[in-house]
Order: sequence, then C-alpha cells, then structure tokens
Amino acid sequence: LEVTLVWHTPDPEFQCALAARRCYSSKPYSELVEELRSNPARVQELLRRVIDVDKALDVIEHAVFMFHVEGLSRVTSHQLVRHRHFSFDQTSQRVVNVLKEDFIIPEDVKKDPELLEEWKNLWEHSKRVMEISLQKGIKKQDIRYASLQGSTTELVFTANARALMHFFYLRCSKEKGGYGGAQWEIQELADKMLDKVVSVCPTIFAKIVES
Ligand SMILES: Cc1cc2nc3c(=O)[nH]c(=O)nc-3n(C[C@H](O)[C@H](O)[C@H](O)COP(=O)(O)OP(=O)(O)OC[C@H]3O[C@@H](n4cnc5c(N)ncnc54)[C@H](O)[C@@H]3O)c2cc1C
Repeated sequence: LEVTLVWHTPDPEFQCALAARRCYSSKPYSELVEELRSNPARVQELLRRVIDVDKALDVIEHAVFMFHVEGLSRVTSHQLVRHRHFSFDQTSQRVVNVLKEDFIIPEDVKKDPELLEEWKNLWEHSKRVMEISLQKGIKKQDIRYASLQGSTTELVFTANARALMHFFYLRCSKEKGGYGGAQWEIQELADKMLDKVVSVCPTIFAKIVES
C-alpha cells in the first residue's frame, strides 16, 4: 500500500491561522500577515485555540491535501469513498485491463497454508474467467463482474484538513489517536496519510480530535 502526498496548500498552517485571526481583528490584510509572519508561535497558539477551545474547525478547511494511493483493495476503496467531503478519481475497470490488477490476501489467511492455497486458487480462477471472457470479446465493463473485491486499485483524492480530521478519528489506529475500531487495511491507509500530513501540519494534527 503506497500513499503519496501529491500536493497541499502552500504554508497551510499559516493560511489557517490567518483565517482564524481574521475573525478577531480589524487590521488590514497586510498587517495581519505581518503580525503572524513575525510571530510563528502565535500561529501555533491560534490554531490550538480554534481547534481545542472554540471548536471552530471551519478554520482548518483552508488547508487542502491531494493524495495518490496504489495497492489498495477494492474492499477498502469502497470504505474510503464513503467520506463525502473527499473528491475522488479511481482507475476505471471499464478501461484498464483488470488482469493486470494484484490481489490482497489478509495476513490471518496467510498463516494457514491450506486456506491460503484455496485463496490462491480462487484468484487464479477469477483471472482465468476474465482471460477467457476477454478472448471471447466480452467488454471490459462486463468482465469486471468476475473480479474479486480483494483486487487492488489506484485512486487520487483531495480533502481539506477538517474532513481529514474526521476521517482520521474514524479510521486511524488507537496508537495514532483514532478510535481504533476500523478494519485493518483502512487503518493502515489512514495511519500512512496521517504521517504525511503531520509532516506539513504538525500543529493542526498534533492530536486527532473527535469531530
Ligand atoms: C468502524 C466502522 C464500521 C462501519 N460499518 C459500516 C457498515 O456496516 N455499513 C455501512 O454502510 N457503513 C459502515 N461504515 C461507514 C460509516 O457509516 C460512514 O459512512 C463513514 O464512516 C463516513 O463517515 P460519516 O458518515 O461520518 O461522514 P463523512 O462523509 O466523512 O462526512 C463527515 C461529516 O459531515 C456531515 N455530513 C456529511 N454528509 C451529510 C449529510 N448528507 N447530512 C448531514 N450531515 C452530513 C456529518 O457530520 C459527517 O459525520 C463504518 C464505518 C466505520 C468507521
């Protein structure tokens, strides 16, 4: 499972702090910028206040992040796309050759050699059915009905920090500050995404808040 942070709002914490400060000051834009540029600690203080005290998470909507994910199962992409404030694009099985997709076998299955063999047979059978269908001229949009939910997919998606905070709360592991009840693969995805955004927004994502 490969997660790439493709792009994010430049200087995201500064922009969010600027939005927060706008609420409490009548200074013109240039003075607000100067006030915050000359005092980075003030940026952190403002952000913690709006998140922890005011619960004004609209302020962090000004920070936007675009991700690329590959090697995620379609089981988990179904769960991911339930997050309605994210914007998605996903590889189309109507267009790409589904035979090129990989297949995820859960670790617990791998521990049982006999069961693992059954899973591998299932995957081989699914691939064979798709291959024969392709040779017989069946359209890709129909062949995909024979693909398995464990097949891997690629997506790009964009989300703001508020939508991410909610996602991290629901989907991250307990160790990372989520509530820890989500399924293992989406936990792995959420934890990896959190690591990426913490590196650019250490104050906003210093802790996951229930939102
Ligand atoms: C452990 C776990 C188990 C799950 N099991 C199932 C399951 O068995 N079956 C299943 O179908 N789903 C399941 N889900 C998915 C879950 O029900 C949500 O669809 C998913 O977590 C998205 O979160 P969300 O609904 O809070 O909203 P998001 O889409 O992430 O939106 C964030 C917030 O925006 C607000 N919002 C968004 N859209 C609306 C709207 N139309 N009206 C009002 N407010 C809105 C809400 O406050 C919402 O919490 C599960 C999720 C988890 C974490």
